[in-house]
This record gives sequence, C-alpha cells and structure tokens, in this order.
Amino acid sequence: MNPPVPSPSGNAAPLGGHARIVKPVAGGRVPPNLADYAATCRDFNWPAARALLDGLPGGRGLNIAHEAVDRHAAGPRADRAALRWIGRGRHRVFTWRELRDETNRVANMLQVLGLEHGARVFVLAGRIPELYLAVLGALKARCVVCPLFSAFGPEPIAMRLEIGEADLLITTEALYRRKVEALRHRLPRLRHVVLVGEAGATTELPGTLDWQRLMQAAGTAFTIPPTDPEDMALLHFTSGTTGRPKGAVHAHQAVVMHHVTGRYALDLHPDDIFWCTADPGWVTGTSYGIIAPLTNGVTNLVVEAEFDAETWYEVLERERVSVWYTAPTAIRMMMKLGRAALAGRDLSALRFMASVGEPLNPEAVLWGVEAFGMPFHDNWWQTETGGIMIANYAAMDVKPGSMGRPLPGITAAILRRDEAGGVDEVTRPMIEGELALKAGWPSMMRGYLREEARYRKCFAGEWYLTGDLAMRDEDGYFWFIGRADDVIKSSGHLIGPFEVESALMEHPAVAEAAVIGKPDPIAGEIVKAFVALKPGHEANEAMRRQLLGHARTRLGAAVAPKEIDFRANLPRTRSGKIMRRLLKARELGLPEGDISTLESDER
Ligand code: ATP
Ligand code: MG
Repeated sequence: MNPPVPSPSGNAAPLGGHARIVKPVAGGRVPPNLADYAATCRDFNWPAARALLDGLPGGRGLNIAHEAVDRHAAGPRADRAALRWIGRGRHRVFTWRELRDETNRVANMLQVLGLEHGARVFVLAGRIPELYLAVLGALKARCVVCPLFSAFGPEPIAMRLEIGEADLLITTEALYRRKVEALRHRLPRLRHVVLVGEAGATTELPGTLDWQRLMQAAGTAFTIPPTDPEDMALLHFTSGTTGRPKGAVHAHQAVVMHHVTGRYALDLHPDDIFWCTADPGWVTGTSYGIIAPLTNGVTNLVVEAEFDAETWYEVLERERVSVWYTAPTAIRMMMKLGRAALAGRDLSALRFMASVGEPLNPEAVLWGVEAFGMPFHDNWWQTETGGIMIANYAAMDVKPGSMGRPLPGITAAILRRDEAGGVDEVTRPMIEGELALKAGWPSMMRGYLREEARYRKCFAGEWYLTGDLAMRDEDGYFWFIGRADDVIKSSGHLIGPFEVESALMEHPAVAEAAVIGKPDPIAGEIVKAFVALKPGHEANEAMRRQLLGHARTRLGAAVAPKEIDFRANLPRTRSGKIMRRLLKARELGLPEGDISTLESDER
C-alpha cells in the first residue's frame, strides 16, 4: 500500500457538500435508538454495552448463539418469528423456541461426530435454513464456523478449506458433487462431510454423512459449555478486492458489537422485520444476516432467490420489511431500472434503509429520498472490523456521500505516515489521510489465519490501519476517498476514484463507473474511467465527448478523466465490489492476480 501524499491542490471539497444534507425523516413510527449521539458517546463504555446481553447462565462466559437464540427462547419472544425463510416455492418460519431446539440438535450432532471445542466447521450452501441452523449450532458447540459463498468455484472453495484447516464441511448434495468431490483428496484433514439432500431429503453419497438422519438422531436438549469471550468463533475471508483474500478471525465477544451496531447503526427495534440482502458467505451476511437481528429480538428475513430489482420490491412489499440493509451495487441496479418500477407498490412498512460495502454515491442517497421517501444510510466497515464502525444514524442528518460518524465506543482518526514509518494524527478538517481506528472494540479481528506478518502490518502503535483513505469534516463525519491502493496521483494531485465516479454517476446516461490511474510519462498517472451506460443510451464518440465534458465541468480539468472506455458491465467481486485493480491490470497488460472472488466479467 502506498502512503498517502499531500495534495498540493487541496482538492478537498466533499462531493455533494453540506448544501445537500438530508434531515431525518420526520414522524418515524418508532423513536430512533440513538437519538442523542453526543450524549450516547459520552456515556458509552464496553462493559455497559456487554451488560445489554445476558452472558451464559451461572457466569459461564459469553456465547454468540446463546445471545442470538437461547436468550430469547427463554423469554417473552419464545414463540415469535425469529427466522422467516422465503425459499424457491417453499416458506418456513422458525420461532426462537424452534430455533433453539434445532440448533441444539446441530450442537449434539457435532459432538457425536467428535468435533470438539475449536474444531473448524465450514458451511457451503445457498441461503437455505440448514445453513443458519448449522452456523448457530456450531457456535453453541464452540466450534469455529466459516460460511462459504456457494457461488465460488471448486478451486476457491478448496483453497479456503485448506487454509482454514476444515474438520467438517456441511454442504448440499448438489454443491458437493459439482464443487468438492473432485478436490477432496487435497483435504486430508477434512474428517467429515455432511450433506443436505435436495429439499431437505436424505442422501447416500459414499464418503459422506446425511444431515437429515444425523439431525433426527440428535436430541433437542443441549447446554452450551462455558465459553470464554475470547474463544475463536467465526472465520471470514475478505472480498479479495485488492488482492488475495485474507481469513479474518473473530471471537465470541464480537456479539457485543453485533448487538450494539444492530441497535444504533441499523436502528433495530423488537417488532421490526429486517432484511439483509448479503449472503452469509460474506461477513455482512453473518454479522447482520444472522447474528445482529436475532440478538436484538428482530424477525430476520432470509430470501433464497438471486436478486434483481423487481424481486427486491416484491419482497419489501409482501413481507412488510421495515429495515433494509443492502449494498450500492443493488441500489445502482434499482436506479438503472428507474422509479417507474416502484409505482403502485405499498412500501409503507419500510422505515429505515442502510447500505454498505462500497462508497455510496450522493446520487444514490438522494435517489432513495426520491424513490422511497427516505435516504439510504451509508455505513462503513470491513471484514476485519467484524461490525459497523462508522454510520449515518437514523436520527442524524445524512450527508450524502459521507460514511457518517463513528459508532459510540469507536475512535476513528485520519493518519499520515511520516518519514520514519510512524504515524501522525491529522486534526484539521478535510485533510486526506489513512482511516484508522483505535484498537480495542469487541469484534476486532484476532488475526489473519496463518498470515501473522500481514496481520502485524495493519497496526501502528494503538492504531489499526484500515487501508482506506478518508477525510473528516468539522462535524465529525467521515468522507471516503478510495482505497490506498486505488488512489491516483496525477500531476501532483491526489485523486480519489470515488469522487470522479460519483461525478460521472450524476450524468443521466451513466449506470456505473470505475476509475483507475493509468501511467503517463508527464503526469505520472492520468485518470481513466470505465463506464456502463443505462439502457437506451448508446456508447459512441458523441457520448464519450459528452461525458468527458460533463466531468470537466463538474471536477475541473486536473481531476476529470482524460480517457473513457465503455463496458457492458464492470468486473466486480462476488460481494459486489468493483475490482479496479483488475481493470488496471488489463489496461496495462499485467497479470490479473487472484481473481477467485470475481463475479460478473462481461467486457
Ligand atoms: P480485500 O481486503 O481482500 O481487498 P475488501 O477490502 O473489499 O477485500 P471487505 O472486508 O469485504 O473486503 O470490504 C471492506 C472494504 O470495503 C473497506 O475497506 C472499504 O474499502 C470498502 N467499503 C465498505 N463499506 C464502505 C462504505 N460505506 N464506503 C466506502 N467504502 C466501503
Ligand atoms: Mg480489505
């Protein structure tokens, strides 16, 4: 990663600026959980946050699954819907009581299979109920769980099972046949494979065990053993946007962060119907697609189908979703389809929408207001941080284009690296530097699996360095500039790709844009943009000139792209992030690097 360089031009004005602040939606159905940011931050401390949870009975520690499941199964919410699963043609609801019994079965089954404290359990499945039971049951048994994204090919799956030293794999019959069977000889450590049959039926493949039979034989009574809050609980691989994915390890006490951020950043209230569109194969789909809604006593909606904008609207309406957590790539897809697709939909239950994963362009935030009557609330975090770190809150002004303010209990800063390899905190507003977090929150990663040196490089003294560049404004809002690896240095200017992409997105013909630095003998680098157009617009020379002109007017000649190429789609990771490094490698004719997480790739 390159250290940030000073920007002689001071090209610091955040896009959208303060003129376009979006006020909180008046008259919301419930008062926001975090109404007074300053007071909450002042009074906040981690022991008090932990006291929001129960802990295992008898002071036997802290276990994620106890907080998510058993605690509510023993309380007034026992018979309410905890998990509402919408499958392809099948629906299923689990109350907290049912969820407790079924996850107890899983924990018993793992014990029967001889999987002990710390054993590694991998789950490779689409968003089927068994995945959720497996994750929570394995946490009860104090195994370490790693959900894998089911659309990975055989090689990325095998690589992760190898690095993660998997003891057990729970997967479906179809995925096993297609993606695992042929590579199983590479995994001598893998003791068992448990298969979920088609639509939950039994299976009899050689060398595997049948989920259905094991579950039937397992009892519904299980006492979670004492769990040290520091016990390793979850393993999640990063998205691989900037290079080879890293396996980030999280401990059971991460649940404190999941709970608090669900409450404050996503504003979850007990009667909410919450929908997180991320797959549990990515950290968002576990922290917020499984744990946070359940600990907060919220009905967690799980939708099996692959998504498109029409399906989203249909689900939001039919299931009366009240809080929706999605990603910029989804929002841009909806924008591409246009507002007309929303006409006649009754989305009156919806009261809060949030986005994560990539910078959310100001255009997209404001489109939320136009189309849904409320902004998308951007928030920022990473696989490594385990939970949301910076957010636009329900009760606070949203500054479109900003990631928001740090969660209570989180200290974020902008740092500059000095000549001697140390770091200095930037205290003046709107100066670029590396976004850093003061180490010590509960869901901070405890390491990268088998990559000690890479892990150590993330720290400077008390600071965890995020690898992202940002600025902080005078109100304490943080503004994303780009990943340190993606930032462009052109004629002495430091140019954040996000700023340029957002300006291009303001043009009515642009569906999405990605910007890279292309080496140039005079300027060092020039800004080159790749643009996908909305349907009905033609990629031709006139359009190119129009976009170049638009960007120059909007950004000035020094920052605007010099070149624009059109693409039908942009390459993105399976977690939905634009892979700028791949566009750059191709542009320069360099090797493509690790593309195990690459999804769409239509040039
Ligand atoms: P890798 O570390 O393997 O390159 P990755 O960083 O994309 O992959 P994740 O942990 O899934 O893996 O993503 C975290 C990163 O996503 C952040 O560091 C940041 O660059 C980006 N990101 C997430 N949320 C936001 C946001 N709200 N605004 C801007 N960027 C965001
Ligand atoms: Mg990263």
